[in-house]
Amino acid sequence: MPAKRVTKQRKIASSVLRWHRTSSQVQTTPFDTPSWNEIFSLFKDHMIVGVDLHTDRFLYTNAALQSMLGYSEEELFAMKVWDVFEEPYKSQVKSSVQAGLQTMDQVTSIVLKALRKQGDSIWLEAYVTSVPYRGGVARIANYINVTEAITLKERMDQELTSFYSALDAMPTPVVIAKETFQYANPAALQWSGYTKAELSHMHVWDLIEVTDDLMQRIQANIHRRLQGESFLGEYPRIQVKIKGELPKWAHVVTRTLWHQNSWVDLMILTDITDSVITEHRMAQERERYRELSELDGLTHIYNRRMFDNQLADMITHASASHRHLTLVMIDIDHFKRVNDQFGHETGDYVLQELAKVVQADLRPTDLFARYGGEEFMIIIPDVHLNHVKALAERLRIRIARHDFKIGTQITVSMGITALREQDTTTRMVHRVDDALYEAKHNGRNQIALG
Ligand code: GH3
Ligand code: MG
Ligand code: MG
Repeated sequence: MPAKRVTKQRKIASSVLRWHRTSSQVQTTPFDTPSWNEIFSLFKDHMIVGVDLHTDRFLYTNAALQSMLGYSEEELFAMKVWDVFEEPYKSQVKSSVQAGLQTMDQVTSIVLKALRKQGDSIWLEAYVTSVPYRGGVARIANYINVTEAITLKERMDQELTSFYSALDAMPTPVVIAKETFQYANPAALQWSGYTKAELSHMHVWDLIEVTDDLMQRIQANIHRRLQGESFLGEYPRIQVKIKGELPKWAHVVTRTLWHQNSWVDLMILTDITDSVITEHRMAQERERYRELSELDGLTHIYNRRMFDNQLADMITHASASHRHLTLVMIDIDHFKRVNDQFGHETGDYVLQELAKVVQADLRPTDLFARYGGEEFMIIIPDVHLNHVKALAERLRIRIARHDFKIGTQITVSMGITALREQDTTTRMVHRVDDALYEAKHNGRNQIALG
């Protein structure tokens, strides 16, 4: 055979061969252009499928998909594309394939659960798009095996579920807050009186009484958290506004957690309302006891016992530091007559009124006490005797001019004595009493020095 013919035959043969190869590829896959193959070759581990949207059958599957699903190419070609998925994904794929006819050019991503031939399941994340094919539409999907990630997420969700179940079962109020409340266990709902829905709209600050002390603690804890020193915070006493009730108190421990993509605070509350109330009552009792033991019941100025104690202390202090100390004794003139004329109750009222008039003219450092019946004492530290005399005179006049609203004038006599060396309470009281006696003796409504 001439060489020319041989060459021609070969040319024909090779072109026939090429045609065959090409047409056989066309029969098995729509992706017969070099560009598609190029693209698919990039997806080494990923699984690619092509779906004929007219027949709902696989047009192309790569080896990775076949081995992942456990089916051969032929077996896959015999199946409807959604047959490899589990419900409810099977129905989802079915409608997605049908929707694909309308959604050309759009890439959608979807996570699906596929059933392997072996009987177990795998999770596939599919990026799906529709492409023109033989005058119609085909669909190509790129599958990524995300079983591991999904399983991990499921496990985390399960852990989160058991975490919440544990919190739900706790008798202690527990809340999770990120500005507003994200979670509250039944104990917290019961304790606070709010519903879950109400709390979800409430800000943490809406519920707690913010004191300066609390603010400082919060700032210190935030600082420690930013420094990475501690994610724990402790607040020994927080006043919480309870729905429609008196406030409650809680000891609160907080733990900052990374939870669902943000920092949140888990707060564990211990109710301390009873002990706070008891403490409050005890403080009130103590205050009442102090009043009883220090104050005079009628006039609410210091009583005799307080006077005795304070005078002793103030003498010691003033003597040691060589400072002025003056004692003034006040006695109402003819008080018996007030009682006799207007009754004992009016007498009581005069005593109260007189105490107010005197108190109004004193400084906080002066100690004013009811010494007995209608006798009063003023201990005045750090003031020269001459100034005290002037003060006493001013007081005497003020009382004499005061309208006690009983239709008669009230006057007082006063004794004054200053601290001397080697003085004692007894000596000072003796001297001031003598001075008072002298003032009475000299005609009352006057002052005498002792
Ligand atoms: P003077 O001091 O000017 O010599 O005469 P006086 O009438 O004030 O005499 P005295 O100091 O002896 O009497 C005090 C009276 O004060 C006797 C008592 O009835 C009355 N008295 C004492 N304590 C109270 C009290 O708490 N309430 C009333 N209403 N009267 C009291
Ligand atoms: Mg009197
Ligand atoms: Mg008297």
